[in-house]
Amino acid sequence: MTKFIFVTGGVISSLGKGISSASIGMLLKSHGYRVTMMKLDPYLNVDPGTMSPFQHGEVFVTDDGAETDLDLGHYERFTDVTMSGSNNITTGQIYYSVITKERRGDYLGSTVQVVPHVTDEIKGTILRLADQDSYDVILCEIGGTVGDIESLPFLEAIRQFPYDLGGEHCLYIHLTLVPYLQAAQELKTKPSQHSVRALREIGIQPDILLCRTEQAMSETHRQKIAMFCNVTPDHVFEARDADDIYAIPLQFAEQRIDRAIIKKLGLPRSKAAQELDGWRAMMTRIQAIDQTVRIGVVGKYIEHQDAYKSIYEALRHAAVANDVELEIARIDSDTLTPDHCEEPLAGLSGILIPGGFGQRGVEGKVLAVHHARERGVPYFGICLGMQCALIEFARHVCRLEGAHSREFDEDTPHPVIDLLATQKTITTMGGTMRLGAYTCHLDERSKAAACYGAPQISERHRHRYEVNNKYRPMFEEHGLLLAGLTLDHRLVEMIEIPDHPWFVGCQFHPEFKSRPLRAHPLFAGFIGAAKRHALSPAVPLPSTA
Ligand code: GLN
Repeated sequence: MTKFIFVTGGVISSLGKGISSASIGMLLKSHGYRVTMMKLDPYLNVDPGTMSPFQHGEVFVTDDGAETDLDLGHYERFTDVTMSGSNNITTGQIYYSVITKERRGDYLGSTVQVVPHVTDEIKGTILRLADQDSYDVILCEIGGTVGDIESLPFLEAIRQFPYDLGGEHCLYIHLTLVPYLQAAQELKTKPSQHSVRALREIGIQPDILLCRTEQAMSETHRQKIAMFCNVTPDHVFEARDADDIYAIPLQFAEQRIDRAIIKKLGLPRSKAAQELDGWRAMMTRIQAIDQTVRIGVVGKYIEHQDAYKSIYEALRHAAVANDVELEIARIDSDTLTPDHCEEPLAGLSGILIPGGFGQRGVEGKVLAVHHARERGVPYFGICLGMQCALIEFARHVCRLEGAHSREFDEDTPHPVIDLLATQKTITTMGGTMRLGAYTCHLDERSKAAACYGAPQISERHRHRYEVNNKYRPMFEEHGLLLAGLTLDHRLVEMIEIPDHPWFVGCQFHPEFKSRPLRAHPLFAGFIGAAKRHALSPAVPLPSTA
């Protein structure tokens, strides 16, 4: 029977609940258990994909094309378990399906209420995930902070789990803050006491407390928290601030959190334990690094920490694989102008332009592409980044004045990026988007084929516009390699400039599939090129503009 672990958060948001949950998932998986994870999000959006990255950070895309919360990215990176749309539910989706059922007459005769109808819907959704596979453990993270109005139905639903399934199958972990008060030079336990009290008022007694702290907790603190929160002292653990998120699973393993969970849930011990050696070796490798590469990420959501989460993580994995330290220069594309472009882009060993929507900052991105192409600086364009590369190439190499994407200029004389005929008929929000995994065939001459070491790959998409096929012959005549195509050759998935040290664009989002111990081939190739560039910068190519 599947065991359920519910992770809640208290005191304040941003305590790292996603990473803590993912770390625990990773540790349990390392014991050989079949683990999956779930995020319950308390907002009313039915489609998390419609939220602005400015507000809610990156939208993480799964193979099945679901647009999900960025915590699913942590889950995939830490546990290496592939997530799908069923691993993320929002309050909006729950209400949507309750109201649909009500309209259909499923509840005829009854008054439809939060308890039991909404809570039953939540429980049903969690249990359906359990039915999908023979999981040993499902880790369910509840978004938001205990005490919020929004998350109450989720908390009520998870409160009922031990009642329905038996207490031995469920475990509650509460992540709380133990702040250090500089003036008193003391760790304070009161906020945790209050937050656990709020949880107990709802009827949930946490089994395990994870205390986010800046400083080491003493035995006295542990005893005090345990006593006031009604948790045994050996179930009070520390989630100490770490310089590196990938150190957290090891930090937890040292305290034997995994053992405590296994014991409490009565999980069978027979599973073959996989070693944490690979993870430890990665951390040791990181410590030995002495060369740095500086990568410019040119985007619109630069000031938002989480908007390009998977991009930053994928760069990090690739840096470790290349034994270099990564320094990221976040460059706001809005600030780049023809007169102000040299200085912010100077001294970069590589330039990456991530995905994005909307006109703002596009001309700045085109300038950054121009710089990278002409100076022989390694360039990696992802989705919008590839589209900007094509706009730049069309304007300055193919000399097509006014070349643009139809997304940004309806009346452009040369829509090198456009909606395809089949897409134009669909108008609903999100409906036109190409989402999820598609197979791509690589040209064997391409750098991409060399990076992947395979002729066919599968990557995740999230975009509306495509390369306009009308311009394909022109691009090829001017020396651009259409390095990747869909299997039917109808869509361009990758482009490269063969006589540039590393100039690669992809229509998909490779960042979602990068893992700490398995850097993504394209990111690894890009950082490899950046490392070479840092040692001996390429001779600039002859100017074309
Ligand atoms: N805005 C572009 C499109 O819709 C690119 C999207 C993206 O970068 N994810 O095609």
